[in-house]
Amino acid sequence: TEQSYIMIKPDGVQRGLVGDVIKRFEQRGYTLKGLKLINVAKDLAEKHYQDLSARPFFPALVDYICSGPVVAMVWEGKGVVATGRKMIGATNPLASEPGTIRGDFAIEVGRNVIHGSDSVESAQREISLWFPEGVAE
Ligand code: ATP
Ligand code: MG
Repeated sequence: TEQSYIMIKPDGVQRGLVGDVIKRFEQRGYTLKGLKLINVAKDLAEKHYQDLSARPFFPALVDYICSGPVVAMVWEGKGVVATGRKMIGATNPLASEPGTIRGDFAIEVGRNVIHGSDSVESAQREISLWFPEGVAE
């Protein structure tokens, strides 16, 4: 079954949005397969966002992800990658529709609460990176 790597970023954890995010994915019908609270090391953040390493905001992005604990999760179910992205909303929260996670909780692209894998291939890479020990069957 399809899986996605979903991560509540430090601002989302600090603001107490963990329960709401989990509730939305549960209510939609997805299954939680892995979950942990992590203080992210710089090299892990850099590997996660490796495709963005040439972008001017990359150092600030890595600092943001390392600024406090994140909640790393694996969610499973039909179409979870694309539907998860729809539930999350656009990268820039000002362009995110109300009803999406970013559209309900954020206004800054550099504080946009949550990450979701952008393809099945990225999901596989990200799950291996964040859950090298594996997830539930
Ligand atoms: P994510 O990968 O975190 O789910 P995304 O896929 O919507 O977000 P990406 O293009 O992969 O967007 O960018 C990764 C993250 O980098 C964004 O979520 C945001 O936190 C940050 N970011 C993207 N563009 C900018 C920008 N122009 N200025 C500042 N930060 C940015
Ligand atoms: Mg992305």
